[in-house]
Amino acid sequence: MTPIEVHPIRLGIANAYLVRQEGTILVDTGDAGSEDAILEAAKQLGIAPGDIRLILLTHGHADHAGSASSLRTMTGAKVAIHRDDAEKLRSGNQGRLRARCITGRILGLFFNAKKKAHYPPLEPDILITDSLDLRTYGVDGTVIPTPGHTPGSVSVILGDNEAIVGDLIFPSIPSEKPGLPFWADDSDEVNRSIGIIREQQPQKIYTGHGGPFSGEEIDTIR
Ligand SMILES: [Zn+2]
Ligand SMILES: [Zn+2]
Repeated sequence: MTPIEVHPIRLGIANAYLVRQEGTILVDTGDAGSEDAILEAAKQLGIAPGDIRLILLTHGHADHAGSASSLRTMTGAKVAIHRDDAEKLRSGNQGRLRARCITGRILGLFFNAKKKAHYPPLEPDILITDSLDLRTYGVDGTVIPTPGHTPGSVSVILGDNEAIVGDLIFPSIPSEKPGLPFWADDSDEVNRSIGIIREQQPQKIYTGHGGPFSGEEIDTIR
């Protein structure tokens, strides 16, 4: 079986990921205007725009869904998001970030600004409810709901014991160790969702910002 490759693309503050096995999918798209950087990273890997079969959004915040509209046009790939974050995508408005901690309150002054909170809207092609099997797109993995940061946040569990969790887990400032997200619509759900990821016992966890982290590091989050 072809091994699963996970290629992080660092886009300013956020990460997107190209995941390749029999097929290729893109997880997250950075802020608006990240499309050229993403397609250039793909090109370096020998991936043409038309090779990308699916654009999966871990949630509807502007730094993850911002370039989904232009990338759908440029690749022809379908865009998938959980139905509970679909309205953010349809309106191109991430809504207000709910700070969980002092860092979130301070950084929120910047990220809640109107210009940062809006992005080109689009109607999603695929609405995720319970889960999405990525084998349809040539990748041995499953998308599962891991709500809390937003109601429709999802994670990708890959068949090789790796996971891509979006903003469910955040790097702490300044230690950069994994921690709770600075913003969460529901903190209890964040904790439950981190528990779901732990149960999968992933060896490597890729996050929407910073990372990746090891499974042992994730066990230290309180
Ligand atoms: Zn987010
Ligand atoms: Zn983010």
